[in-house]
Amino acid sequence: MSTSPIISLTGIRKVFTTDEVETHALADIHLEIHKGEYVAISGPSGCGKSTLLSILGLLDAPTSGGYTLNGKEVSNLTLAQRARIRNREIGFIFQSFNLIGDLTVFENVALPLAYRGVPPGERRASALKALEVVGMSHRVNHYPAQLSGGQQQRVAVARAMGGRPSILLADEPTGNLDSSNGETVMGLLKDLHRDGSTICMVTHDQRFTQAADRNIHLFDGRVVAEASLQTA
Ligand code: ADP
Ligand code: MG
Repeated sequence: MSTSPIISLTGIRKVFTTDEVETHALADIHLEIHKGEYVAISGPSGCGKSTLLSILGLLDAPTSGGYTLNGKEVSNLTLAQRARIRNREIGFIFQSFNLIGDLTVFENVALPLAYRGVPPGERRASALKALEVVGMSHRVNHYPAQLSGGQQQRVAVARAMGGRPSILLADEPTGNLDSSNGETVMGLLKDLHRDGSTICMVTHDQRFTQAADRNIHLFDGRVVAEASLQTA
């Protein structure tokens, strides 16, 4: 095990340019995330939380600044290089689940493993194991539309963790769930963290930031407060 961070951001800026308007979504972000950490990011709507997660998840590139992921500089990669690293290193959980509607639960979880070249037998075993962890073994042949929102998000968690990524990124994962399903999904993230997963989650729900080791508060694209919540 190494003590160097999994993620290191230095001076990250993101500017969106549309027509004549420049939006400075992120300004000079410095952030390190270590193996096994659970980091919560909060802040008002529009402060840059999703932009930060997109950059961390290699869905988007920063305008400037450095990003080292597992010791490799990844801020200036091509789209194809980013996609390849994302598939191996990143698990993403979105507010709106983002499951593929015409694939079954099992196929949704197995698909990223197929992209990655995992052989069918191993793919099947990993997907079924991940679905067991989230309590969805009884619905492997269902389609997303046949599931409740809470169940869909549990499948999305299984998909995100199925390939054992270096880090799980979750963008308001309970935003579309009622409070009971929200607690179930947060409980799953807490279990994954306890079992060693590294997690970075955006949430504006104060109840859920308490499960994290560290809470980062963003405002206008800057980190304005950082608090260690517990030492675990
Ligand atoms: P949050 O997730 O905290 O609500 P976002 O990261 O989505 O905030 O957005 C931060 C700022 O960047 C907002 O002002 C938003 O309007 C702007 N923004 C986000 N994505 C784009 C985009 N693709 N094009 C232009 N502006 C964007
Ligand atoms: Mg957002």
